[in-house]
Amino acid sequence: MRNIYIDGGTKRDLACMVDEEAGLIKLRRIRKSVAGSIANFEYEALLLSLSYIQKRMVSTDKIVIHSDSTEIVRFARQCKSGRVRTLNKLRRRCLRKILQVSLVTSLSIHWTPRKHNLAGRILEYYRKRRIPKMEFIVKWYPCKRCPAKYIQEGDLERHIYNRHIMFSS
Ligand SMILES: [Zn+2]
Repeated sequence: MRNIYIDGGTKRDLACMVDEEAGLIKLRRIRKSVAGSIANFEYEALLLSLSYIQKRMVSTDKIVIHSDSTEIVRFARQCKSGRVRTLNKLRRRCLRKILQVSLVTSLSIHWTPRKHNLAGRILEYYRKRRIPKMEFIVKWYPCKRCPAKYIQEGDLERHIYNRHIMFSS
C-alpha cells in the first residue's frame, strides 16, 4: 500500500502532496484569482496527487490518499459512486482524474486528523522558510509511540517531550 498525503495552504498559495514511502514532496503554486475558496486549494492538492499517481506510480499498488478535509473525502466518495451533483471546472477535472486513476489502480481516499497529515506538516514547515524546489525529497523523523512524523529532529524531540513525557505518569 502506498500512502499519499494532500493539503492546500492559503498562506503561501500552495497545493502540496507527499508520497510517504518515497519521501517525495510536490508543491504547486495556485494563482489567487483561481483560488476562490479555501476548499479550492484542497481540490488543487487532490489534482496534483492524482496527476502524480497517473504519471509516476505503478498501477498494481494499492493507493490511499489521505486528506484532513471532510469535503474532499465526501467528494471523492461521491465521484466513485457516481453521485456527484454540483461541478465547477476544478471539480470536474478532479472527477475525471479520480475515475481515470480508479480504472487502473485500487484507489481510496481517507480522512486523516490534521496533526497526522504529512502534507499539512510540510506546508506548516515552509510557511516562513525558503522553499528549496517545487519537488524534493525529505527524510522523516517518525515518533515511535504515535503516528506523528517530523522533518526536523528537534521538532520530533519537542513532540516526544510534550506529548509522551510531560503528561505521562
Ligand atoms: Zn508521538
